[in-house]
Parts: sequence; C-alpha cells; structure tokens
Amino acid sequence: MNLYLFDVDNTMLDVDHLHRQAYEEMYEKVYNVKHSLSLPKGEERTTHNIIRCALTNNVPGKKIEEQMEEAVESMARLYMSRVNPLFVHTNVPHILGKLNERGMVGVFTGGARHITNVILKKTNLHERFHHVSTCDDAPTRKEIVKHAIENASLGRKFDKVFVIGDSPEDIEAAKSNNAVAVGVAMGYHDEETLRKSGADIVIKDWEDTEEVLEKLKGRILLNS
Ligand SMILES: [Mg+2]
Repeated sequence: MNLYLFDVDNTMLDVDHLHRQAYEEMYEKVYNVKHSLSLPKGEERTTHNIIRCALTNNVPGKKIEEQMEEAVESMARLYMSRVNPLFVHTNVPHILGKLNERGMVGVFTGGARHITNVILKKTNLHERFHHVSTCDDAPTRKEIVKHAIENASLGRKFDKVFVIGDSPEDIEAAKSNNAVAVGVAMGYHDEETLRKSGADIVIKDWEDTEEVLEKLKGRILLNS
C-alpha cells in the first residue's frame, strides 16, 4: 500500500489572502501589538514559529508561549467565518477520492492543529484524510513529515510514500524521510524551481485526473 501525504496551503487550496489578516488581527487582539516583524529567511514556516518570530522584539518569550493557545484559537475563529469550499483547487476532491482507493491519504502541515482542522472542515476535505500531522506534533517540517509517516503506518510498511507540496521545504522534508518528492507548481514556486530543488515528480495543477494519477504511480522515478 502507498501513503500519500499532502501539504495544505497552496498545494490543495489557497487561503493565503486570509493569513496576513488572521495574524495581524490576532497580534493586536491577543498580544496588543500593532506592528510585528516578518519571518526571517530560513525560519520554519509553522504557525507557532511565525508567531514567535513576529513578536520577538515586542513581547517577552514567556508571555508569547503562555498565550499561544489563545492566539491559535483567535485565528481559528477568523478562519471559521471566512474559509469556504471555493478555496480548494479545481479537481482536488476527485483526486483525493481516487488516491483513497489506491492507498492511505494524509496531511502534513506547518499550520497549528486547530486552524488546520477548521480549514479542512470548512472546505469539506476533512473526511478524505486518514491522518493529519501539524506543528503541534513536531517543530519542523521534516519532523512533521516523519511524524505523519510513523503515525499513519501503525507498524505496517508502505510500498511507497509520496510527500506532496508546493515549496522547496516540502521537497527537502520528503527527501529527508526517503519519500518520493512531489512538487505542485500552484504556489510561489514554478515547475523548474521545484525540479531544481530535487522534486522527483512535478505537477502543474490537479485538473487532468488521468495525468496526475499516472504521475503519482511514481514510474517517472524509474526513467530518471
Ligand atoms: Mg504549502
């Protein structure tokens, strides 16, 4: 049996236009901070780490941690009222249905669990996944993928693990876990960038079901 692990943001759906607003409203409401810092290059893009980096000059570390749960709850409320199924990329639900016939389908994401659950429920994708690993389970993308593989497997051995994401960090996380790295060129990185960062397979978009399913057999690996 194969395992297919999907990243959420930009890979399956687009909620980027809500993120900045969600963070900024929360910084003001929960931490009383109006101007925060942006994430330095090379930092882990997890909800928890983005909050820590953004507030580091304005809020004592202890207070950031003490109010972390409240911060996530506050953001989750905004997603609850503003996320809808139109955010899902065309044909993703159909592809997930097909992959569920072939193997096990799960999620790995840098998002916090509560926010991820809200986004998956509001887009009607939640039922399609056997397993969800988030930044509540491990601090880095590589370790979140590792957690997902270990917890989805429950001791059985997968024939192949596909790690499917839109960023070079997702490709790296796949490689460090000996998984097939699948780049999806629907975010900020084009097909060439994803290939250069080591993607074994690149998917332009989800629209052609046959083509996507053929690629996700992993045969391309044999020719490269
Ligand atoms: Mg992403």
